[in-house]
Amino acid sequence: MTFRILVCDEISVEGLAILEREADVIRSDGTNHLGEVDAIIVRSRTKLSAEMISQASPSLKVIGRAGVGLDNIDLNAAREAGVIVVNTPEATTTAVAEHTLGPIMALARHIPQGNASMKAGQWKKSTLLGSTLSGKTLGIIGVGRIGSALAHIVQGLNMNILGCDVKQSEEYIRSHGVEPCTFLNLLEKSDFVSVHVPLIENTQGLLNARSFKRMKPEAYLISTARGGIVDEEALFQALENGELRGAALDVFEKEPPELTPIIQHPRVIVTPHIGAQTKESQAQTGIDVANEVLAALSEKPLRWKIN
Ligand code: NAD
Repeated sequence: MTFRILVCDEISVEGLAILEREADVIRSDGTNHLGEVDAIIVRSRTKLSAEMISQASPSLKVIGRAGVGLDNIDLNAAREAGVIVVNTPEATTTAVAEHTLGPIMALARHIPQGNASMKAGQWKKSTLLGSTLSGKTLGIIGVGRIGSALAHIVQGLNMNILGCDVKQSEEYIRSHGVEPCTFLNLLEKSDFVSVHVPLIENTQGLLNARSFKRMKPEAYLISTARGGIVDEEALFQALENGELRGAALDVFEKEPPELTPIIQHPRVIVTPHIGAQTKESQAQTGIDVANEVLAALSEKPLRWKIN
């Protein structure tokens, strides 16, 4: 029997080629063909609600998420319908960890301001006084795949690295060259706080007005994790109140966002959710999701089964 697979969002040509060798591939948005397909593949754009999963469930066996975050899939509904959910958590780890280093450097040395001022015909050398990273403290919230990969990259910069995590053991955190500490200690001691937790119920608004008050006034916040983990309105207020010096955001409460005050803030660097946007990681994501979905349909062992 040939499997029918609905691909709702863009996946790499490498991934599509694998699927097309073994299945009928339908490329369409998530509202069509529900109930006719064995598997659905999405990235973060398509939301698979309980209603859509129930509509698809007579034939649906597998949902493949090309990427990590699962906040766009109603996992309870999938579980109740007996639908397997798989994702591709490893393909983008290096790209996101590398991307996080960009804003850290850019914040410390005012690179966007230097670039914009020169293009406006100005030479603002004396006002763009930055901070040396060596000897500073980086706090990593969530020492999972990306958090630990970031720690390895940063080791060459001679920074002190603190990390907090609700699940990883102290031994595991230390094995990545990271000093374990509590969430509040990390906020109080870090010059750069970088967020790498998933968006789940108890991380919604994890970085909020109370957290910003614990941070050093000269500290920077970086989030390449998920929109909603950082409270954008509270971040704006904290920057205005001088509770922290600057921030960099790759992810937003609403994507694409409006031109909100936080995006326009002169001490905030923004990028349009490009943490995982490298040729290499996108190719690998497509390959991983294609192989994992086909394995699930053929009842073979799975690497990244969520439920
Ligand atoms: P992971 O599951 O490997 O690591 C997350 C870690 O966070 C885990 O160790 C977990 O125990 C820890 N954690 C959970 N709640 C916590 C809390 N309240 N306090 C402290 N630690 C907590 O995930 P990952 O692959 O490293 O991904 C991390 C984040 O990066 C996710 O939010 C993911 O969605 C995001 N991401 C972003 C992009 C992008 O394009 N910007 C791409 C891929 C992943």
